[in-house]
Amino acid sequence: MNYQIHRGQHEIGGMCIEVNASDGTRILLDLGMPLVAPDGGDFPFDTPRRPTAELLSEGVLRDIPGLYPHDPGAPDIAATILTHSHLDHYGLAHHAHPEIPVYGSEGTLAILEVGRIFFPDSALPADLRRLPSNKPFEFVSISVTAIPVDHAAPDSRALLVEADGQRLLYTGDLRAHGRTGFRFENMLTDQRLHGVDWLLVEGTTLGSSGGTHGLSSESDVENELVKLARDSKGSLVAVVASGQNVDRLVSCFRAARRSERLLVIDPYQAYVLMKLTPPSKSIPQFTWDDVRVSFSPYQVQRLKDAGMMDLVYEMSRQSRVSSDELATRPGRYLMCSRSSLGMTKVFDKIGPDRVELVWSMWSGYWERDRCAMRTWAERSGVVPHVIHGGGHAWPEDLKRLTSAIAAKETVWVHTDAVSAL
Ligand SMILES: [Zn+2]
Repeated sequence: MNYQIHRGQHEIGGMCIEVNASDGTRILLDLGMPLVAPDGGDFPFDTPRRPTAELLSEGVLRDIPGLYPHDPGAPDIAATILTHSHLDHYGLAHHAHPEIPVYGSEGTLAILEVGRIFFPDSALPADLRRLPSNKPFEFVSISVTAIPVDHAAPDSRALLVEADGQRLLYTGDLRAHGRTGFRFENMLTDQRLHGVDWLLVEGTTLGSSGGTHGLSSESDVENELVKLARDSKGSLVAVVASGQNVDRLVSCFRAARRSERLLVIDPYQAYVLMKLTPPSKSIPQFTWDDVRVSFSPYQVQRLKDAGMMDLVYEMSRQSRVSSDELATRPGRYLMCSRSSLGMTKVFDKIGPDRVELVWSMWSGYWERDRCAMRTWAERSGVVPHVIHGGGHAWPEDLKRLTSAIAAKETVWVHTDAVSAL
């Protein structure tokens, strides 16, 4: 068995690893979009939708024989396997030959399918299939075992690849400090992983941009939110976070309960939570007593276009909260917000002095991007509270992982650290 890291070793993003067996069977692990442009800025968000030939000529897509539709030798890859639903791991997978199946966990596929509805421009692979967890799945002569890991994307996986009597473990993205940190601890004693030939491990936090920003755990995030909510009676607590970061949503839900507020989500989040019920049974749902849905006209239209007006009516009947209600009693609610113009209009209606804004994503996004929320905050004289916990394992946890697994060779990927541990 051999492997080749096509992209994503010395950068955060653009992950793509090929594994091949001696009989010529080849698979790809992730096929993601780069995040960092050569000038150090963000990669343009429309990158996935640009033509394959252009991305290849610019080197954004790597020249991998047998992968792309224009290659007469294609398809010569048995499958692409995704570790999770973050753009830097799946974002370019649709450029591959459409007959190459793309595998992911139930939760990964759910997030991708939800994206198809709410972001009609998003480009997704044609043939998406579910990869079962914790048991070997055969791709001709290569076997892949998907191992659940804790990460900010729901239902993320590490991949154990076996062929020719050798083993390679690719961690994908993972951490020990989320709500399912026990999965990380399980890996330390998992005999299937001990002594693998190659450990390809993500090292985001080892580099300069992976940093030590953020709180150390998801429960710290919850506690900080509770403190803020109790200290700001009469004000709306509005938490800007990624809609697919379910751990964060659970933290918001728990913080709302502990501070005797109702959790407010939008239709996108309500739908994400609904679709994730099979893999995560205990996550909050819009049907729960202390959850409300604030309607965004754009999102309602997307559901309507997808023929799901029944769901809109159900959300409306069971749990809708209007902007008038939010403005009348803002102190009753803790809201998971989006950085959108529509949201800032709701905040203006409530009154900026009655909104406690929480930035619950990487602080670099706030500093670098002039998003709708930052523009509104600066105009209104609102200073956000930054309450965030990182999605990646801290260096001390990575050390525990690499020493417990004791691979014959450990290779750091997904890091801009000059020299890894
Ligand atoms: Zn990730």
